[in-house]
Amino acid sequence: MYRAAFTGSFDPLTFGHLDIIKRASALFEELFVVVAVNQEKKYLFSAEERVSMVQELVKPWKNVKTVFCDTLVVDFVKKLHIPVLIRGVRGVVDFAYEYELALMNRGLDPQIETVFIVADPAYFVLRSSSIKELASFGGDISSMVPPLVAEALKIKYHG
Ligand code: ADP
Repeated sequence: MYRAAFTGSFDPLTFGHLDIIKRASALFEELFVVVAVNQEKKYLFSAEERVSMVQELVKPWKNVKTVFCDTLVVDFVKKLHIPVLIRGVRGVVDFAYEYELALMNRGLDPQIETVFIVADPAYFVLRSSSIKELASFGGDISSMVPPLVAEALKIKYHG
């Protein structure tokens, strides 16, 4: 069980995501950050933009790789021989959603286990959607996202 995948939209990546990446990379030999595309979702950043930001920001961890996935996540990780899906959980609301997702994935492939990592209280309230809203109003997001992401948000909203 030495490979794991941390999947998400990362639209954009926050300090909360980075904390989970740091902690998961210490638990597994190899961690794949899977930037997913969900046809139902509207993203602020394109897949290429999200991948390139994640790629840049995970550089400090030598065992972390960034990959892009536009198919079913369980099929994708199975092809790469990754048996573990990592998800971060912030609270009960998150948990209810994450639990259902994990059960659904388990139904699709019982050999793939979902492992939950509890969010650090310091990043508990960080949510990509609220950060985008704050950034669109020109609010200070420097304590929530890395400078590279803050700059990218500024350009998206304010040119
Ligand atoms: P998705 O669209 O798959 O929910 P997100 O990018 O919103 O993608 O989240 C990816 C994963 O990161 C999810 O498991 C989510 O619970 C987790 N996550 C998001 N924000 C935080 C945070 N602040 N602290 C810990 N985990 C987080």
